Amino acid sequence: MTAGTRQSSSPFDDFVERLKRTPPSCLSNCVVEPAELPEYWDNNPTSAWKTRCHCGGEKGRLLGFSLNDFNPEYDGPLLLVSPLAFECAACMERTAFLDTDIHGYHADIDRRAGIRGGSCKIRGSGEPTAFLCPGCANNQFTLVTAFVFWNADALAEEFEHRCEDLFNVFLCYASCCRCGGVTKPTDFGKL
Ligand SMILES: [Zn+2]
Ligand SMILES: [Zn+2]
Repeated sequence: MTAGTRQSSSPFDDFVERLKRTPPSCLSNCVVEPAELPEYWDNNPTSAWKTRCHCGGEKGRLLGFSLNDFNPEYDGPLLLVSPLAFECAACMERTAFLDTDIHGYHADIDRRAGIRGGSCKIRGSGEPTAFLCPGCANNQFTLVTAFVFWNADALAEEFEHRCEDLFNVFLCYASCCRCGGVTKPTDFGKL
């Protein structure tokens, strides 16, 4: 880079850029492309991805498990817990993309240590539920998934491999194919 064209980036800037450009391995069965984070989140590094079926199909059902079925004390709007999957409207295949027992900072650190510990989050099992648009009850969406990295300076120093898998917050933005409304069907913090 020629001096004066741009301020030279620090190793930490390069690391943040790498996080932004490398999809976490939970998306490895999906076709992804970088997206803008649909809303301001916080000052931590993030990455965001248009998330599609491996066939390229971008519309489909979002499958997960209703938090209310696994935590009867919850009585808010429909929120999904993992495992999450995308069922493509074009080829009908279901592609899993987030399981809190396997993905996210604490689950990944446990796996690196050879433990299947996972997070303490509530996790569903059985036949999944399809998310419905709260605006129009449609079940077809396009998805943007996003990841927030806390303590990125520690990540940059302590880990060489798969730093992009060490996210602390997973965000999912579902855009309704009928009314265009964008909803966040999940609420995963402190992963
Ligand atoms: Zn497909
Ligand atoms: Zn809708």
